[in-house]
Amino acid sequence: MGFDLVIRGGKTACGGKFSLRDVFVRDGVIAAVRPPAKALPPARRVIDARGLLVLPGIIDAHAHFRLKLGPGRYTSDDFASGSAAAVCGGTTTFLDYTGQGPGESPAKGLRARLKEAEGRCYADFSFHCMLTGWEKMKDPAGEMAAAVKAGAPTFKMFTAYGARGLMAGDAALDAALKAAARLGALVCVHAENGPVIDLLTETYAGRGIQALPLSRPPFTETEAVGRVAALAASAGAPVYFVHLSAGGSAALVAAARKAGCKALGETCPQYLSLYESRFKGKDGHLYSCCPPIRTKKDNAELWKSLGRGQLQVLATDNCTFTRAQKDAWGGDIRKLPMGLPGAQTLLAAAYTHGVKAGKVSLKKLVQVLCENPARIMGLSTKGFIKPGLDADFAIIDPSASVKADWRKLQHNTDFSPWQGQKLYGFPKYTVLRGTVVAEGGELTAPKTFGGRFLRRSKPNII
Ligand SMILES: [Zn+2]
Repeated sequence: MGFDLVIRGGKTACGGKFSLRDVFVRDGVIAAVRPPAKALPPARRVIDARGLLVLPGIIDAHAHFRLKLGPGRYTSDDFASGSAAAVCGGTTTFLDYTGQGPGESPAKGLRARLKEAEGRCYADFSFHCMLTGWEKMKDPAGEMAAAVKAGAPTFKMFTAYGARGLMAGDAALDAALKAAARLGALVCVHAENGPVIDLLTETYAGRGIQALPLSRPPFTETEAVGRVAALAASAGAPVYFVHLSAGGSAALVAAARKAGCKALGETCPQYLSLYESRFKGKDGHLYSCCPPIRTKKDNAELWKSLGRGQLQVLATDNCTFTRAQKDAWGGDIRKLPMGLPGAQTLLAAAYTHGVKAGKVSLKKLVQVLCENPARIMGLSTKGFIKPGLDADFAIIDPSASVKADWRKLQHNTDFSPWQGQKLYGFPKYTVLRGTVVAEGGELTAPKTFGGRFLRRSKPNII
């Protein structure tokens, strides 16, 4: 019996190292991984990967597409443009978030969001459940159990955004963490001290874009990380901190882990490679995100933490706005949309600024972009190049660079934080369950939305 696809002779990530391998795919699944052979069995398609790197498909554990901002208003990437950007950048799975209001049922939110996404995605996908308005829910722990049963065992809570009803107090966090421990679920926390940030925002509102770093100094993040890690330790629950921006936060996650707490941390390319100098000039406001990009020192400390395994996941927090949407702020930080496009540049930015720059090994990059998010987020068919798993790959030419240009990216926006940078690691081919879905930065079948919803199993806390 022949194969659907053979990826021939690439330097392939398997078994925790890189070796020259032929990878055989049948029915969307990896059928075999073998040392290179002279003669290949019959296959419908052969990708000659000699001289190329074959990575598992990237998992973006934190993305926002078509995020509702208000009545009829959304972020500029919908599921089609966002997932097109993702696959053209090497990402074959993304995790977005449900969008129900505070106090509403997460499982119901999951069904609604699934309806929005289904048939509109080029990559496989799942959702973290927002867990907001804990006190307003009749049976919040029961709601968590229902979501776990529906294949969404990860929950997002906030220690900020009180005015929008998103902020969880310590009692709600404590209760949710205890429920998660019982259910084998995972609470993901946006850790920033909301009340202090609200106060500082009013204090510095007249300072233009400088109000952003001034209103969210590093201690507003580290305070929340330390507090929530202590709550998680006492609850005997794992906890996952999203989008860590400060070197001090990574140090706290490391200390918590050393003390036996099952704390996990995620950071994003913008916190590893961009810093406050971006706020200068007329485009400074385009770089607004929460938490803010910080200093070169923070960049360096976060790379070190990733390299040492003290942070486990690298994801995008993709939240795309157009220039027009950002420009509508009129100089008032309180009206500035927060978020950056990043879905298409995740692998390339990480490969260029991390591996090429000597900050982390290629093996580590595969851990934080593929293996760790697969384990932690309960994606049991993803993240590794192993027989029986989904045939998802990002195949890159390590010697090829591209000058980043938003005009050539699939995002629905008109700027890129990486504009003009020479980036390595954009995939030559992206393969989703055995099908080449993107080649050289373009979709191979723009009319085919091949992405599927993934029912996830319980998180495997590393
Ligand atoms: Zn986010």
